[in-house]
Amino acid sequence: MTKIIDGKLISAKLKEEVKIEVENLREKGISVCLAVVMVGDDTASKVYVRNKKRVCEAVGIVSKEFILNANISQQELIDLIDLLNKDRKVNGILVQLPLPKHLNEKDIISSIVPSKDVDAFHPINVGKIMLGEYDFLPCTPAGIIDLIYETGISIEGKNCVIIGRSNIVGKPMSMLLLQKNGTVTICHSKTQNLKEITSKADILVAAVGCPNFIKDDMIKPGAVVIDVGINRLKDGSLCGDVDFEGAKNVAGYITPVPGGVGPMTIATLMKNTLLAAKLQNHN
Ligand code: NDP
Repeated sequence: MTKIIDGKLISAKLKEEVKIEVENLREKGISVCLAVVMVGDDTASKVYVRNKKRVCEAVGIVSKEFILNANISQQELIDLIDLLNKDRKVNGILVQLPLPKHLNEKDIISSIVPSKDVDAFHPINVGKIMLGEYDFLPCTPAGIIDLIYETGISIEGKNCVIIGRSNIVGKPMSMLLLQKNGTVTICHSKTQNLKEITSKADILVAAVGCPNFIKDDMIKPGAVVIDVGINRLKDGSLCGDVDFEGAKNVAGYITPVPGGVGPMTIATLMKNTLLAAKLQNHN
């Protein structure tokens, strides 16, 4: 019988832990603050930014939002980030991606001071993760490690397969699984014999961005299946990269969409913002 990994429940526990620590800091006179910068009015981004604000409020983190005109210049955006870098009241800075095409995403992310880069996308933080000497872990992969941990299944020695090699999910996910002593394979659009590889995975992470891409015959019986995908269908509903109905007859554990990886990503962002505040205040 497949067990559902309840991301809502697990993230609620994490948020409660963060809330208690935020309150402890407040009693010491330290307020925790996250600045979220969004450019333009992409519908999905607006939803993510709204959710982040809601969760900030729920855990007692001050949320500052900067919703900027889609035509903002690279320099204007960097100037704003510079102000936030210098603002001692701001502990974490997040730039909502994707950015409009005329902006250079890499340079914008690099302009965030690494100690406030709570998404852990800055090249310095990415390098630290490679070395295993990090302060912040990227929110989605770190949240996934916590979800796997909750199954009680050890990653050590397991055959871990990730589909997707993006900088924000696939690549850092591979590093975290490797650091937990998993044997890691990364697949992508040029991978041959994908089914042969995925069907040997004890832990399968799907981060493709393609609705119902993973079918039941691609899954090893009893595997832990983590569905990162968030795909909006024509009828407005959300679905993951895994064909949930088929997969739930084969997998040992599976994350639903919604209610799996998504809530953990936001909860981990709160954890990182708290950590940033603690490090900046030597707490
Ligand atoms: P990207 O589009 O950056 O990466 C997708 C990856 O999938 C690429 O590496 C691509 O390969 C690979 N891919 C595409 N088609 C195939 C195929 N046919 N076979 C094998 N691999 C394939 O996406 P992201 O990593 O940013 O996001 C992936 C999904 O996760 C999206 O649905 C996104 O919305 C969701 N997401 C969810 C989050 C959450 O909190 N739940 C957070 C972040 C993302 P190649 O490199 O060769 O092009």
